[in-house]
Amino acid sequence: ELQVKHVITWMEKANEKIQSNKEYLTSLDQAIGDGDHGLNMARGFQEVVNKVTESDYTNVSDILKDVSMTLLSKVGGASGPLYGTAFLKMSTAVKGTESVDFPRFRTAVEEAVNGVKQRGKANQGEKTMLDVWEPVAELLQNQEDLEAEELASTARKAMEATKDIEAKKGRAAYLKERSIGHLDPGSVSSYYIFSALAEVLD
Ligand code: ADP
Ligand code: MG
Ligand code: MG
Repeated sequence: ELQVKHVITWMEKANEKIQSNKEYLTSLDQAIGDGDHGLNMARGFQEVVNKVTESDYTNVSDILKDVSMTLLSKVGGASGPLYGTAFLKMSTAVKGTESVDFPRFRTAVEEAVNGVKQRGKANQGEKTMLDVWEPVAELLQNQEDLEAEELASTARKAMEATKDIEAKKGRAAYLKERSIGHLDPGSVSSYYIFSALAEVLD
């Protein structure tokens, strides 16, 4: 069951990973983008943690909504609105319950994936964050209950697999086949978000 306190820890752990890998995310984005992904994510997630730790929430939907709004307004770039959409869809999907059981969380992640796809007009296999989000959503559909280790390893493998793909969306798409051989920055930050979730639910 996902409760408000879990979401707070989730965001804190995601932020820790992003802050300590800020330079790494920047270097990944320097290779196939404009080099701001580390800065964008570090700024956005620090604001998220500030926001959720200084506010009081009675339900998971409200906290996810604040996460969404903060990411939307503070991350910027292509990834800000996409992460904002993902958390907004999750917030909507869990509305009306104080805590979130696994089937509902699974639906929420699926809605998030659909929202990101729509907003970014992208599909799996185009070297974007969706290459991590979609395999994670699929994994959850095939589980009875959330298995933390599997979640983390699925996200990791999916992230690693973006290295061999040619980018079809986002700035990296301008490089065409020269984007092959580099990890997608947004897939790496998405991996941090899901591995943080796995730690919370373990
Ligand atoms: P920008 O490219 O505007 O500088 P960021 O560097 O913050 O934004 O984010 C880049 C990441 O956003 C990419 O690595 C990719 O994962 C993700 N991204 C870009 N375009 C799309 C899209 N259309 N759909 C899904 N994700 C995308
Ligand atoms: Mg960038
Ligand atoms: Mg940019």
